[in-house]
Amino acid sequence: MAKKITIALAGNPNSGKSSIFNMLTGARQHVGNYPGVTVEKKEGLFKYAGYKITAVDLPGTYSLTAYSMEELVARTFIIDEQPDVVVDIVDSSNIERNLYLAIQLIEMDVPLILAFNMSDIAKQKGLVFDIEQLSGLLEARIVSTVGSKGKGKTELLNAIIETARQEKTERIHKINYGDEIETELAIIEPLITNTEQQLAEKYNSRWLAVKLLEQDSEITEKIRNKELLEAVTTSIEHLRTIFGDEPEIIIADRRYGFISGACQETIKSTVEARHSRSDMIDAVVTNRTLGLPIFLLLMYLVFFLTFKLGEYPMGWLEQFFGWAGATIANFWPAGSESWLKSLLVDGVIGGVGGVIVFLPNILLLFLAIALLEDSGYMARAAFIMDNIMHKIGLHGKSFIPMLIGFGCSIPAIMGTRILENRRSRLTTIMVIPLMSCGAKLTIYMLIIPAFFPHQWRGPVLWLIYLTGIVLAIICIKVLRLTIFRGETIPFVMELPPYRMPTLNSVLIHMWQRGWMYLRKAGTIILAISIILWAAGSYPKPGQKSLEGLNPEQAQQTKLRYSVIGRFGQAIEPVLKPLGFDWKIGTALIGATAAKEVFVSQLAIVYAVNETTDKSGKSVAPTLREKLQANYTPLTGFCIMLFCLISTPCVATVVMTRQETNSWAWAFFQFLGLTALAYTLTFIVYQFGSLIV
Ligand code: GDP
Ligand code: MG
Repeated sequence: MAKKITIALAGNPNSGKSSIFNMLTGARQHVGNYPGVTVEKKEGLFKYAGYKITAVDLPGTYSLTAYSMEELVARTFIIDEQPDVVVDIVDSSNIERNLYLAIQLIEMDVPLILAFNMSDIAKQKGLVFDIEQLSGLLEARIVSTVGSKGKGKTELLNAIIETARQEKTERIHKINYGDEIETELAIIEPLITNTEQQLAEKYNSRWLAVKLLEQDSEITEKIRNKELLEAVTTSIEHLRTIFGDEPEIIIADRRYGFISGACQETIKSTVEARHSRSDMIDAVVTNRTLGLPIFLLLMYLVFFLTFKLGEYPMGWLEQFFGWAGATIANFWPAGSESWLKSLLVDGVIGGVGGVIVFLPNILLLFLAIALLEDSGYMARAAFIMDNIMHKIGLHGKSFIPMLIGFGCSIPAIMGTRILENRRSRLTTIMVIPLMSCGAKLTIYMLIIPAFFPHQWRGPVLWLIYLTGIVLAIICIKVLRLTIFRGETIPFVMELPPYRMPTLNSVLIHMWQRGWMYLRKAGTIILAISIILWAAGSYPKPGQKSLEGLNPEQAQQTKLRYSVIGRFGQAIEPVLKPLGFDWKIGTALIGATAAKEVFVSQLAIVYAVNETTDKSGKSVAPTLREKLQANYTPLTGFCIMLFCLISTPCVATVVMTRQETNSWAWAFFQFLGLTALAYTLTFIVYQFGSLIV
């Protein structure tokens, strides 16, 4: 008994489906443009290698939405008849457009073969495919054919038989639709499996979820469950507000992005033939020689603007907190020693205010990141980094969570979920804290203006960020060669088309992150500020020991006597070789809880004798003057270097534990980075001292 196999031939119109059908079945079906009859599907029977094969030539479609009759016929056949193999006839001379259908078949999770037809024309056009890599990325067999000449027949037949015999395996690569859409999918997909069991058995549930977000009428009609329908409506509404566009369009964009990324990696064009606007921009932006300089220049621009534009609102906020502190202090008679006054003025306003003044910088940085993300440049940045990343043993995709790390390590570590390989993922998580997050920016914002002349501020900030990136690269290399050794599986980098970022979406992104920062200032940092204030104010030395001292000396004596002062002094010998004194030591301890606390703690340490200042002078400039008077620029730089590398904040450690599912990795990260910070700062300070 010969086994029976059904195969479906799908593909864009004029990709050569009928030619391939004829080639396989030996029929003489009409070939060529033939409008009007495309809706029909045609069946043919033939035998090969002991199999009875039924081939079905489906109508030509560009997509598998339910918009046209052709699409519906093709889709219904593939879903309802469940052919053993779907052969997607791809016009390989026009690959990006043709792969859109392929991507949808991949998402439907059908057993798929791609026939790269028109390979003769592709060759004429000078296109060279890395078939093996592309096939790996798409997880489908690829066979080159020339349908009109019957070339590739045996290869195609063998591939069909093999695919039909194969056990179905889970796909590794899924198109990543981006955080926002993925979040909604993660809500809808389980709802489908729970409420629409019959559908979920028949169709791939992720595919269903995507279709629902795309507002596919045919699939939506099949849904009976009210709760699910409501969830879908909410998700769509939510996505509409974020993107200012229909989710369907964004989803299509991501698919094109996936294709574009896959093609950039696997197709070389010996003849330059680029058309679309995105391609034209990409020709410059992702250019081999220009790409990296443009990327670095853009990054530099971002930091320059963050600094320059942020100066003005920062000045206003400083004045505001200075005024607020003075106003509150005025409730008490001059020279009063009230603990409540000290708590409010030094602890709360000094601490939290010292952190909030940097909000404009943070917002500007996040604005820039949101603009780069929404315009589609971020994906290019990852693409540009892909070459370098491959050299150090990671995929360029790892660069995306690392870029998010410039905002905050927490979402960045969560963002590593897009990496499928555990070793790549762990490596990326380990180095994410080396990306200067928004909280570390507050430290740089305090230190840089205090020690560096105007024209050097931008470059120094840029240098610090760059140091983090370079260190991350070195660490990755080392980790990949040692504990996280192993192969990198290739996968696709999505390159969505460039789009004008919508004001709405950029503002939402900026605000979400800015709000996180503010909330942190109002909660964790407020609490820590108060604890640190208490630890810095108590126990108090006896009145006697303060007699005859000027206010400055009295302040130092009090601080030395306090809990935190004692602790700082205890660790001072360890910090001395880095150029840090015990006061910086106390701030470093605070920074472990949250990086911004470094600033608020220094503000508290140095602000206490400033409260009687009647001119209403604000705390932050005074703090800078104090730092200037007490430390050298070298120490200033070392502070930034140490804070850049050292101990990730508590929240990051917890997140690492959560995402790696192991305290061991969390501690490894914590201790490893601290040791690295110590060593490097030691070297810089010791060598620096010799030179300066
Ligand atoms: P369909 O619309 O997908 O069924 O495409 P057809 O099979 O009708 O083919 C469209 C046109 O492309 C016809 O003129 C074919 O002869 C031609 N054709 C099909 N395959 C190839 C190929 O591999 N190379 C070249 N040069 N032409 C092809
Ligand atoms: Mg045809």
